[in-house]
Amino acid sequence: MPHRPYIVGNWKMNGTRASLAEARAIDRGAARNPGVNVGIAPPATLLAPMAEAVETISLGGQDCHAQASGAFTGDISAAMLADAGASFVIVGHSERRLLHGETNEMVKAKAAAALAAGLGAIVCVGETEAERDAGKAESVVSAQLAGSLPDDAGTPGQVTVAYEPVWAIGTGRVPSAVDVSTMHRAIRATLEGRYGAANAGMRILYGGSVNAGNAAELLHCDEVGGALVGGASLTADSFLTIVSAAAPSTD
Ligand code: PEP
Repeated sequence: MPHRPYIVGNWKMNGTRASLAEARAIDRGAARNPGVNVGIAPPATLLAPMAEAVETISLGGQDCHAQASGAFTGDISAAMLADAGASFVIVGHSERRLLHGETNEMVKAKAAAALAAGLGAIVCVGETEAERDAGKAESVVSAQLAGSLPDDAGTPGQVTVAYEPVWAIGTGRVPSAVDVSTMHRAIRATLEGRYGAANAGMRILYGGSVNAGNAAELLHCDEVGGALVGGASLTADSFLTIVSAAAPSTD
């Protein structure tokens, strides 16, 4: 991993103020692992109180609207996330693409809005099981990258790509290390072609059923710069095991 590894927890629609104690425990653990960049994307309702409760970890939104403000009932702008304490936002998660009909074009606009508001953007891509079985995993991901990435990469490290095979999310199934490495190398080649030198600062995260048992192997695959973690990020115990697995060896 060429950069400081980046481990991000996506809490999805889980958590109330009672979960702030867990966030504090994660924060203390992150402070003990200074070689790892740790973030949590809690529900938007918890961003502001969590920002008050933690010191070391970064906080992010799970989605943002492409517009800065306006008549968009129920939506949240990137600037609002920043105002509540976020420094990054996840865009194009497969649950948003599938359950909210988000297209590549929409994801690209959200990523651009995030960068414009000064947030980091974690742009999610990943194939379905049927697409992988049909031998189309790389072409699907390549098309998602082509359509979802912002034209301008922003400042170094502002754009992160998360490769999350849809069939691995929340299922306990993960691709082989060879398949993860193959896909991450292909994503790196796409980023290089698209952004040239700016690609060097971009991390590519793996996401999909990362847990304490498989984190070390997944994090050591080619071009894996960290992990986007769902279920296993909800408790400090399991999340911090993944954070420790990402910590650079001191040998
Ligand atoms: C996710 O939803 O981004 C995710 C990776 O979930 P899980 O770790 O639970 O598979």
